[in-house]
Amino acid sequence: MTTAPAQDMHDQHVIITGGGTGVGAQIALSFAQCGAQVTVLGRRIEPLQDVADRTGALALTADVTDRASLDAALDRAREVHGPVSIAIANAGAADSAPFSKMSVDAFQSSLDVNLTGVFNLWQAALPDMLKLGGGRMIAVASTAGLKGYSYVSHYCAAKHAVVGLTRALALELGPKKITVNAICPGFIETPLLEKSIEKIIASTGMPDSDARASLMSGNPQKRFVQTSEVAGAAIWLCSQSAFSVNGHALALSGGEV
Ligand code: NAP
Repeated sequence: MTTAPAQDMHDQHVIITGGGTGVGAQIALSFAQCGAQVTVLGRRIEPLQDVADRTGALALTADVTDRASLDAALDRAREVHGPVSIAIANAGAADSAPFSKMSVDAFQSSLDVNLTGVFNLWQAALPDMLKLGGGRMIAVASTAGLKGYSYVSHYCAAKHAVVGLTRALALELGPKKITVNAICPGFIETPLLEKSIEKIIASTGMPDSDARASLMSGNPQKRFVQTSEVAGAAIWLCSQSAFSVNGHALALSGGEV
């Protein structure tokens, strides 16, 4: 993990879903390094507690697809850190299947976590931002929100919808001094990517290095995006100098899109 850009966030309460692993854990670390009050949410307490131990964050379990569970976690987070000024909807999941074999349940489940989870967090945090007179909403979407990929049609549909939600809300909430943006990374080295690589190896028999190269091949820089790059973009989107950036889908993909 690398150092976050210096920025004073002592007066900010940032809540990060999926904050126990991968991108979310790095975002939590970067905001903590900037002095923000950090709350991390997810379904498993162990990885969240590990991030909390390293950053001083508040770790709370919640399922982003279950609005009551999310609302209860936000109530507890407010008791500890005050109103939420930055809501980062990062929780997500990506399994894969050809469209012809994709069950309706798998399709719905992808929409639930990758799309409705964003809706739930942002809507739950909105009253705080309205009271504060401003705030920042960020979704960790994906290049799958900007272009198609084979075998993840449910994930692409959900991430495209997150970009649409972002653009619409930016118009609606702009007058309230709330900015709404999506970060759209290409493949990043995280537990989620490792699962995809394992699946490619299991289904094709490819060696590990070939499976990794096949995923990197779409990125003109021929590398995976780093979690620190996503965290850096999130910090910048929360800076005063990014206040005019609203309704944007920021691709972090080495030029892939
Ligand atoms: P990850 O390490 O698997 O992180 C996903 C996180 O989401 C986990 O901490 C998981 O924690 C949490 N989560 C999943 N379902 C949840 C639910 N229903 N309620 C609450 N939390 C839930 O993978 P990652 O790569 O860091 O993914 C973070 C985001 O980046 C995702 O939105 C993903 O789509 C996006 N992204 C990833 C890549 C990539 O190549 N890795 C590329 C572009 C975009 P629990 O299991 O404990 O709940």
